[in-house]
Amino acid sequence: VDPPEREHERAQPGTPLYVHLPFCVAKCTYCDFFSVAAEGQDLDATLEAILREARERAPRGPRTLYLGGGTPSLLSVDQLARLLEGLEQVCGWRASAREVTAECNPESLDRVKARGLLDLGVTRLSIGFQSLRQPTLELFGRVHGVEQCFQAFAAARDAGARHVNVDLIYAAPGQSLAEWQEDLERVIELSPEHLSAYNLTFEEETPFSRWLAQGRLSQADEETELQFLHWTRARLAEAGLAPYEISNFARADEACEHNLNYWRNGAYVGIGPSAASKVGNTRAGNVRHVDRYRRRAQLGRSATVWSERLPSAARLAESWWLGLRLSEGVAPERTLAESGASPEAGQALLQLARDLSEQGFLECAAGRYRLTERGLPLADALARRFLTHLDRAARA
Ligand code: SF4
Repeated sequence: VDPPEREHERAQPGTPLYVHLPFCVAKCTYCDFFSVAAEGQDLDATLEAILREARERAPRGPRTLYLGGGTPSLLSVDQLARLLEGLEQVCGWRASAREVTAECNPESLDRVKARGLLDLGVTRLSIGFQSLRQPTLELFGRVHGVEQCFQAFAAARDAGARHVNVDLIYAAPGQSLAEWQEDLERVIELSPEHLSAYNLTFEEETPFSRWLAQGRLSQADEETELQFLHWTRARLAEAGLAPYEISNFARADEACEHNLNYWRNGAYVGIGPSAASKVGNTRAGNVRHVDRYRRRAQLGRSATVWSERLPSAARLAESWWLGLRLSEGVAPERTLAESGASPEAGQALLQLARDLSEQGFLECAAGRYRLTERGLPLADALARRFLTHLDRAARA
């Protein structure tokens, strides 16, 4: 049974736009994004449905545009042209978007595809290497090999791409620090403008978490993860890739604006199967099913199946939770003003930040709170305390 549809608040002109293209060659074993194997799927009909949703909901003149997934580079240049031209007619992104990113995978990024993306107005290519070890790529269920990573990067450069991100995962089962160091050095040699290095997480309902529970995989211990984290940050900073978020590193002026907006708790509109949106104090999400998504579009129904209105205090807590991931940290007064929460809620969270600073986990510089080196490894747990703190204060 299809869940009921929900209404959306209309986003302001300029709001960043995300487009979810949910097709991959095969499903990776660690991945919990919504994506399905492309074989047998009607990609053209899905693109039609996405454009139909865009006509209903895309903001005029988005500041940034992000094609994510899934594997957007899996689409042919013709399909990408239909999508991007269609979006242009709907919202005029060409005149407004300062940054247009397309996520790509090595198996589907050659020079022709990269040139096609750039000609269509994409400014930034994000390539998912994930690992430079063949056994790890196989364990991850990746369909490309190590050499294809380098070929895809070279194809992007040959085509003229000037803003390239490489995605990597560290602390894979059995991976030693020395192996990671060797792999990262090979990526640094490529001189990407941006690098995302994620600590492997075992997401629920993935083969990876099942294998972990069955004892077929081992998870790196905390001490090892810490070594990876500290070495990675120090080495990338030395290589000119400054950390601006826990897992994201960039040369000057190369931070991903689209993602910075998420961490700054800004508004965004997501279209496509499973895509989430946040406009004002309302969060909403689309149906996580390709056929149902298409059927809704054909029937002229909204793809949105859940929405929630956040109280202002919850939005404030969320801004702390997200903002502490950023090296720039959180400015308490501005964050409070943007959330519309009460001064009491603002004071309660500021006091928590002060307490955590006294314990050495946060520091305050130029009026902004951010994680210290000591707080960094505990980032998730510390940031979550801001989400639960107000609930607890209200119950006390
Ligand atoms: S290619 Fe990316 S989105 Fe697709 S299954 Fe693998 S990790 Fe997930």
